[in-house]
Amino acid sequence: QLGDEQVDIGELLMSPLWLEEANPALPLPPALYGPPPARRNSKGIDLAVEPMRAPLLAALETTAVPHVELFDAASAPKAVAASAAAFRSWRKTPVEARAAMLREAADALQRELPRFCALLVKEAFKTWGDAVAEVREAVDFLRYYADEAERIMQPVALPGPTGESNELRLTARGPWVCISPWNFPLAIFAGQVAAALATGNTVLAKPAEQTPAIALEAVKLLHAAGVPADALQLLHGPGETVGAALVAAPGVAGVVFTGSTQVARIIHRALAAKDGPIVPLIAETGGINAMLVDSSALPEQVVDAVVQSAFRSAGQRCSALRLLVLHEGIADAVIEMIRGAAGELAAGDPALLSTDVGPVIDGEAADNIRRHLKRLDSEAKRLLAPASSSSTSTEGNLIAPQAYEVPSIDSVTSEIFGPVLQIARWGSGALRDPAEVIDRINALGYGLTLGIQTRIDSRAQALAARAHVGNIYVNRNIIGAVVGVQPFGGEGLSGTGPKAGGPHYLYRFCAEQTVTVNT
Ligand code: GLU
Repeated sequence: QLGDEQVDIGELLMSPLWLEEANPALPLPPALYGPPPARRNSKGIDLAVEPMRAPLLAALETTAVPHVELFDAASAPKAVAASAAAFRSWRKTPVEARAAMLREAADALQRELPRFCALLVKEAFKTWGDAVAEVREAVDFLRYYADEAERIMQPVALPGPTGESNELRLTARGPWVCISPWNFPLAIFAGQVAAALATGNTVLAKPAEQTPAIALEAVKLLHAAGVPADALQLLHGPGETVGAALVAAPGVAGVVFTGSTQVARIIHRALAAKDGPIVPLIAETGGINAMLVDSSALPEQVVDAVVQSAFRSAGQRCSALRLLVLHEGIADAVIEMIRGAAGELAAGDPALLSTDVGPVIDGEAADNIRRHLKRLDSEAKRLLAPASSSSTSTEGNLIAPQAYEVPSIDSVTSEIFGPVLQIARWGSGALRDPAEVIDRINALGYGLTLGIQTRIDSRAQALAARAHVGNIYVNRNIIGAVVGVQPFGGEGLSGTGPKAGGPHYLYRFCAEQTVTVNT
């Protein structure tokens, strides 16, 4: 615990503007502030968390994780019918009124940041830094989609011949099934729900079965802000039963899903097999995200970006770095530095302020990662101390950062959803040209995030243009997309688009209507 450490005021004053503006009772500035930077001072204190230390630790004591009732999958058609009934009035509620409710929920979430952080630590094993960033992102989503809905749902007059008026407007579609993941149980949950509600749709929210309590508490804030109970229903249960029944139920107007590529395919097939209207699917899935480093890159910057991107959140982000491709001229030196930096990370109890890497979500996830580690132990060269092998308790689900040198880019064939980095080299033979490296990365079939580290600007631009990837980060880490700043989402095996937190996202939740009047 860092509880008794002295805070270095000089360091705090160097912190970003939002910290300086912070009101200690309500330590968050208004909309679109993004996640706080992960910065520790010389004493290892997280500068984003430090000003909130007392309320956060108090919330940990007082916050209990509520029990959430399981939903009976057989009732899915009834729930969709109730949603359709609620839709009749919700769609007529003016967009300004719907946006006001989302903003009210955002304000409440901001006020209750410590309690929601405590829930994230207790139910999802988030570190405090990740928890604070996630609450901020959820608030951003609520406010951003409120603003965006007001912007795009105004009718647009179109030119036409004399004697005729033409207007184009967006309308809501109906009940949406929102299926959200455990790795961002608040931010992605709130983002999906807010997008559907803001545009006048009703919502059947199916949170990940590992994290229903955080979802329940978020839903309570939205109901308290005025969203009718039937317009936003929380239906907790396994994807195989509850999720599947909701997707299959008649009357569903759309599905938005974040999770694995494999489950996205199952949903896609289930929707294709339905009678009746063709139902749109928005899917944001995984990635084998790479970072290409050339010999002009700054090694310290590379190492910092790699450690953040591969190991923060225990690697449990769709955006996380899985494959580092180092130019052979600097590979040995950079690998040595990564070994040093990764060895400094504190893996342990997420409730401690000093922890950098908490446990993965559950035993099943830990077992799956360990199976991959066993395979890598025989196929690749281990670069860090081995992870422990038991997964009988939360502590057993702790996997210390792992790194391997693999024979080639093509040997990385599946996404390992944990703190496991694979490293390949380029610079000779068939891989003399960085464009060839990008082609190999494209050939993996995913397309979510990509890092490029080079001091040659024209090269960065050319490689970015060649990549089939949704989010490209040059000379920095590749995680933590900010709402409204780095719209997030990929292509290929990584999803359908549109990008969450971007100006095109809400259109997919709407139908379009052209009204032509002979005047
Ligand atoms: N938006 C997050 C990021 O940029 C990742 C979301 C996810 O893991 O689904 O890190």
